[in-house]
Amino acid sequence: MKEYNISTLIAITMDITAENQVKTGTVLLDAVATHDSVRVNVDDKMISLLMSESSSRKDVHEAIKAGALRPDIMPFARQYLQDNLMPKISPLRQDDFCTQIIESMRADKKVSDGFCNTMQNLYANQQYLDFATYADLYALSITNLPSGVVTSPEDMIFLTQESRRCPLDNAELWKKSRKKGTPFIYTYQIIQIYPEDLPDELKPVFNAIHLPPRSLDSDDNRIAVCSNCAKKYLDDPNPDDYRRLVESKRAYKTKQASEKISASSAIEDEIVMIIQAIASIEGGTHLEPFTDVLKIKEKILPENNLLEEAVRNDVVRYYPFIEKQFSLLDDVGMSTFNVIRSEVTTCYEKYEREGLEQSEIVYELTEWLLTANRLGRKLRIAASIVISFFIQNCAVFKPHNLNVDVAELTEESL
Ligand SMILES: [Zn+2]
Repeated sequence: MKEYNISTLIAITMDITAENQVKTGTVLLDAVATHDSVRVNVDDKMISLLMSESSSRKDVHEAIKAGALRPDIMPFARQYLQDNLMPKISPLRQDDFCTQIIESMRADKKVSDGFCNTMQNLYANQQYLDFATYADLYALSITNLPSGVVTSPEDMIFLTQESRRCPLDNAELWKKSRKKGTPFIYTYQIIQIYPEDLPDELKPVFNAIHLPPRSLDSDDNRIAVCSNCAKKYLDDPNPDDYRRLVESKRAYKTKQASEKISASSAIEDEIVMIIQAIASIEGGTHLEPFTDVLKIKEKILPENNLLEEAVRNDVVRYYPFIEKQFSLLDDVGMSTFNVIRSEVTTCYEKYEREGLEQSEIVYELTEWLLTANRLGRKLRIAASIVISFFIQNCAVFKPHNLNVDVAELTEESL
């Protein structure tokens, strides 16, 4: 675990005391929440929202958070934990409790070394009650939200898998927000398809439907569902829902595989179209003179950087294919190839001297390639792959030699 906060502490404490999430969370929060000056009602829902693995995770209630930092509440919390938490920690697990907390604090860069050392000393001196009090008040006082992001990229992958709809009841997993600054409201949670804590008596029924994957933490066992269904399924996993989750995961994977195949053959077709267009050019081609650096910079949007990254990967992937297409051309085609190559080389070197990034040059040359050959913008990705191929040629190819050793072209050289 890379973060230390209340959800971490609840998870560790659950394991040590062998109590459920709600009971454990309630004890840890009530140490502050039941104080006369705080008086916050802690319920099941509050605990499950604190523990959510997705962006629906909530922060600690403000009054509890503020209370955890008040010196006058500390003795109260200490007494509360002495009565309600310490009796549940077996002497056999006391060391585990302390070392797991210290380890997760040390792994979290936001926890200062000084505080980690304080905890280490309390543990070394066997001041277990003070240790637990500090661990709890500290966890309650800091943010419980996952580090800085609304939704992790990983979450997005699981979300798009379900095309925004819950596989169990078809509810929307996220919707546009009307509030400024928050573009989306997320209403999903990522759950395990085969639940880790599945009761033993249900295992044969579940296994008969579909055997669990070797690791329950693997992506194959994770799926996004709406918060309502997540809660229902986690509290009461039933075979019907399990079957539907397994099936929608399988359907998604099949769809993904077929999309991958058709996408890659579409790109290859487009590359062939571009190369044929290049080969049919009569006479020399001329690049528009380079005029305005700013104009290009404006055109490069941040999302294009990701595209360029993808293009770089594509060049590695399509390099042998492009090379083969060119070698299939007749002599005329070959000489066109040489013309294009020298044009691209000249232009690339010129733009490079002007201080443009390679991605900007690829962008500009792609536009040129499409315009010069009267090709539609639809072919932009394929065209940028071809341009990247030529740019790599400038650096890697020996003059008038097409028989380059592809193996020499490592990802690094791109
Ligand atoms: Zn649902």
